[in-house]
Amino acid sequence: MSHVSVALDGPSGAGKSTLARMAAKHFGFVYVDTGALYRCIGLFMLRNGVGTEDAPAVESKLKDIHVELSYDSDGVQRMILNGEDVSEAIREPRVSMAASAVSAIPQVRAFLLETQRDMARRYDVVMDGRDIGTVVLPEAQVKIFLTASATERARRRYRELVDKGMDVSFEATLRDIEARDKNDSTRDIAPLRPAEDSVVIDTTEYGLEDSFEFICKAVERKLQGNRDSE
Ligand code: C5P
Repeated sequence: MSHVSVALDGPSGAGKSTLARMAAKHFGFVYVDTGALYRCIGLFMLRNGVGTEDAPAVESKLKDIHVELSYDSDGVQRMILNGEDVSEAIREPRVSMAASAVSAIPQVRAFLLETQRDMARRYDVVMDGRDIGTVVLPEAQVKIFLTASATERARRRYRELVDKGMDVSFEATLRDIEARDKNDSTRDIAPLRPAEDSVVIDTTEYGLEDSFEFICKAVERKLQGNRDSE
């Protein structure tokens, strides 16, 4: 039997990473956070003084980058950039914006494509991102598009950053979310949109537990379907 892929797409702060992690744990699948890959590219460019909107300069640096996904003993994804664990460094707000900017560059998307597909070839995965159901894994058995209002998403992100001890304001967090929404949904390549065969869940309305139950039911239906056809 081929591996099961669950594609979980949606805008920043819709609850993707929390729900993807919960679902992966529940089913014993590997959780793949693809945003972390784009963040590594963004971080590398910031550290090397490369303008993240300067596509030719960004492209010319890709050959100097090696990104790896690794998992610790608790199954938590760690990001290794040229041999260094940057899992914490990539969470800074300035890296979010840099990731969003470099993600609009086609060569960056192409550069990261195989790493993502390779994970789905090797494991049952819950993969969270923006274009998993549309571009990375168009054959994914389960596709979910999670969304929520921008204000609600900013509220959640703000709480998360404050809990991590970061010095941010709610207004700046909301501006950041709105700017990334705009970048992600208006870019020419792989814009953020629900796949036609995806189930859309608005987490402003549903909340975490209901959304989790919904995702679990969708995956269980699929697994049952696979067993029936064996
Ligand atoms: O998910 P996260 O917020 O960590 O992603 C950081 C940025 O990477 C997003 O704002 C988005 O621009 C980009 N991204 C993407 N495609 C993905 C995952 C993330 O373009 N599959």
